[in-house]
Amino acid sequence: MVTIARKVFVATRLPKNTGVSAWVAMLPPRHGNGRLQGHVTADIVIIGGGFAGLSAARRLNALDPGLKVAVLEAGVIGEAAAGRNSGFIIDLPHEVSSEDYGGDTITKNREAIDISRSAIALARSVAEEQRWGRDIFDPCGRYSVAISDEGDRHLIKYAQGLGSLGEEHRLLDQGEITSITGVETYTSGLFMPGTVMVQPAAYIRGLADSLHAPVSVYENSPAIRIEGQVTGWTVSTPQGSIDTGRIILANNGHAENFGFFESRLLHIFTWASMTKEFPPSLLAGDRKWAATPALPMGTTVRRIPGERGDRVLVRSRYTYHANIEPGSGTLRRAGAKHDEKYRARFPSLAGVPMEYRWGGAMALTWNSVPAFGEIENGIFAACGCNGVGATKATANGIAAADVMLGQKTRLTEIFSRFDAPKPLPMQPFRTIGAKANLAFKEWKAGAE
Ligand SMILES: Cc1cc2nc3c(=O)[nH]c(=O)nc-3n(C[C@H](O)[C@H](O)[C@H](O)COP(=O)(O)OP(=O)(O)OC[C@H]3O[C@@H](n4cnc5c(N)ncnc54)[C@H](O)[C@@H]3O)c2cc1C
Repeated sequence: MVTIARKVFVATRLPKNTGVSAWVAMLPPRHGNGRLQGHVTADIVIIGGGFAGLSAARRLNALDPGLKVAVLEAGVIGEAAAGRNSGFIIDLPHEVSSEDYGGDTITKNREAIDISRSAIALARSVAEEQRWGRDIFDPCGRYSVAISDEGDRHLIKYAQGLGSLGEEHRLLDQGEITSITGVETYTSGLFMPGTVMVQPAAYIRGLADSLHAPVSVYENSPAIRIEGQVTGWTVSTPQGSIDTGRIILANNGHAENFGFFESRLLHIFTWASMTKEFPPSLLAGDRKWAATPALPMGTTVRRIPGERGDRVLVRSRYTYHANIEPGSGTLRRAGAKHDEKYRARFPSLAGVPMEYRWGGAMALTWNSVPAFGEIENGIFAACGCNGVGATKATANGIAAADVMLGQKTRLTEIFSRFDAPKPLPMQPFRTIGAKANLAFKEWKAGAE
C-alpha cells in the first residue's frame, strides 16, 4: 500500500482577478453558496469551480448519483477565467500557441474535434435541462475574419483543411462579411456553424447551480492545504476542512502553487474590453455575431444585443506572468491596445467608449497537452487548459471523472495517449522566451 500520510501540499498563492468583467457586471449580484465551515467528509473533493471542476462534478454525479462530491472554489463562482472569457465554445481545432489552425494531421484534428464536441454535449445538456435562452447558450456558430491578404489566404487554407475533414463551413467575400458585421474593415470571412456562444458568467453560474446534493459547491473557500492521512486526504480551507478519499485538482495554472507540474505550466493572460451600450442604429449589420481572427494571435470581436442597447467586446493581447499575477499597468496597456483595435474596426462607434476592462489566466503547456491524470495516490489533475478552456478544460474535467470512476470512453481513449507536459526552460530563459515568443506572434498577427 502506498503511504500518503506525511505528504503535505500547501498553496503558496491564491488566485486574484484583474479588472471588472463585463459578463459579471451585467448580471444581478450573485447570492451563491456559502463558505466551507467546520469539518465534513466527501467521497471526492474538487479543487476549482471553473469549466474543469464543475464539469467534473456534473459528470461524476451523472455516473454515480450517490457520490458525495464537494467543489471548493477560491472566489465567487463565475468571477475567475471560466466566467470572464469571450464565451466561444469552439468545436474546431484552434490553438493560441499553434502556428497554423489547419496544419495538424487529420487524425489529430479529428481527436481535437471529438474532445470539443464532448464538451459541447455537456454544455448543451445543462442548457436544455435548465431551459436557458439564447442570451446564455446560443448554438449560432462563429465567423473567422480576415483583415489582410495574409488573413485571406489563411482562411482559404483553413477552409480547405475543414473540407478535407468533412466539416461544414462557408467562405464569405468582403461584401458578405460586411453585411453581417456592419463594418468595412474585414476583407473576407469564414462561417463555421458548430461553435456555441455563451454568456460565460451566466453559463458558469448556471452550471454550478445545476448541481444538487449529494454534490456541494462551496464558494470563497480556497483549498490552502492538502494533507495525506492513513486512508485518504484532508483538504483545508481558511474556515473548514474535508476528509476525502480522492481529489480532482481543477485549478488550472494554480496547481503549480501546490507544487504540482512545477516548471511545466506557462501562465499566459489574455485581456478583454467591452463598450457601453449603444443604440443599435449606430452600427449596421446583424445585432448578434461573434468572430475570431484569421491569424491565431489576432483580435476577437463580439457584438452583444441587449434590451437597452448593444455592446461590442474586443479581446486581444497575450501576456506572460510567471507568478500568475499581472499588475494594473498590464491591464492599462491592454486597454489601450483594445481601443486602437476598436477604433480601427468600428469608426461609426467613435463616440462610444469602453465601460469594462479585465483579464484572466490560462495555463498552457509547451507540448499543448493537458496537465492530466493521477499525480499522487488518489489525486487526479484536470489542468492545463491550453487556451481554449471552454472546450478543453470542460473535456479535462469530464475525462478526469471518467478515469477516476474507471469509465472507458472515446475521451479517455484519447486522453490516455497524451504525453506528459514537457518541462519548460529554466528561469530567466523561460520568461525571456515566453515574452519574445508572444511579442513575435503578435507582430506576425499584425492588424488581424
Ligand atoms: C479574456 C479571456 C477570453 C477568453 N476567451 C475564451 C473563449 O472565448 N473560449 C475559450 O474556450 N476560452 C477562452 N478563454 C480561456 C478560458 O477562459 C480558460 O481556458 C478556462 O477558463 C480554463 O478553465 P479551467 O476550469 O481549467 O480554469 P479556470 O476557469 O481558471 O478555473 C479554475 C478555478 O480554480 C479556482 N482556484 C484556483 N486556486 C484554487 C484553490 N486553491 N482553491 C479553490 N479554488 C481555486 C479559481 O478561482 C478558478 O475559478 C479566455 C480567457 C480570458 C481571460
